[in-house]
Amino acid sequence: ANSTFSQVETSIFEIMSALARDSGAINLGQGFPEGLEPRELIEAAVAALRGGPHQYPPMMGLPALRQAVADNSRRFFGLDADWEREVMVTSGATEALADCFLALLEPGDEVIVFEPVYDSYAPIIRRGGAVPVAVKLAPPDWRLPFEQVRAAITPRTRALVVNTPMNPIGKVFDETELRFLADLMLEHDLVAICDEVYEHLVFDDARHASLFGFADVRDRVARIGSAGKTFSVTGWKVGYVMADAKLLGPIARAHQFVTFTTPPALQAAVAAGLVLPDSYFAGLKQALRDRRDVLTKGLNQLGFVVRPAQATYFAVADFTAFDRAGDDLAFCRRMVAQAGVAAIPLSAFYARRDLRGHIRFCFAKQRDTLERALDHLTRWV
Ligand code: PMP
Ligand code: GLN
Repeated sequence: ANSTFSQVETSIFEIMSALARDSGAINLGQGFPEGLEPRELIEAAVAALRGGPHQYPPMMGLPALRQAVADNSRRFFGLDADWEREVMVTSGATEALADCFLALLEPGDEVIVFEPVYDSYAPIIRRGGAVPVAVKLAPPDWRLPFEQVRAAITPRTRALVVNTPMNPIGKVFDETELRFLADLMLEHDLVAICDEVYEHLVFDDARHASLFGFADVRDRVARIGSAGKTFSVTGWKVGYVMADAKLLGPIARAHQFVTFTTPPALQAAVAAGLVLPDSYFAGLKQALRDRRDVLTKGLNQLGFVVRPAQATYFAVADFTAFDRAGDDLAFCRRMVAQAGVAAIPLSAFYARRDLRGHIRFCFAKQRDTLERALDHLTRWV
């Protein structure tokens, strides 16, 4: 009765989506895009479903997809990986993360995570017997606090979880921050689990960089991606892990017993998506950047304080102009009930719920949806 999972609450994304559904509110909470799925990807999935095969694909993933993952990572991020030895397909990034935590951590190990932290990490880390140790990033800049990171390391520290671009704050770790983390990994013999699902959703002058690209730590990095984000199909749950063969070995053993494989038609379609021309990837960024600008500008005009996100689907808004005491969960509940707009309280990304004046909006929606939401908010605030 006292197990890890009896203590875990229903995810805030599920809670806010259910509230939005029940009340007919516009859902800018849970992160999912509207109307951006590439036609080529859907057609490839339909063709693969018609033509088959429909049985278990290879455990490591379809060769065509593993090659496409390696090629895409080289084309856009200059990362070199041997698809036969260093790339594995998973059922979403969520599975890849679980595989990594189960495979790379032992009971008693400590794992550094950065708050605000994505909600799926800590429960699986704990269930594996390891201990998440949070280091907080602070608004409005969300810089990596080097001294606090250093101070969080103990002889039991085994791993870092690095989510860049970072949900919920839209931060892209820069080269200096990554170099600092790479040096710590060498100094303290650590591995890094790098959640890079938003790798393609980066705007303006920001550039995505991966610890996997740092030659001296490359063999200590498991880099994770998701077709859900790259192709705006979050329900598909097709992900991948890229890691040196020695590190990937145990991760593949975990995958073998968690899901074993991923639907072959979806794998074939994602392989077709990853080889689309540069114009597809540029168009996706452009569309999301435009949507970001519509929502950011609108929220700022209303009196929220929002900085343009460098990446991801998310705009973080300081709402304390409306509610000085700042209880973000209460604010979100009022907003969904009274204004008909759902968002996510940022405190959900902190183990101690200790930052309460910010909420997260998802801007990856059609312009019309964003404008309607802004309209509702204008009448409410
Ligand atoms: N990591 C982060 C940071 C995310 O925001 C998400 C969102 N869905 C995931 C992992 C999970 O990706 P997937 O849907 O491929 O499991
Ligand atoms: N990644 C999505 C978000 O941050 C949520 C996925 C989920 O609901 N588990 O909104």
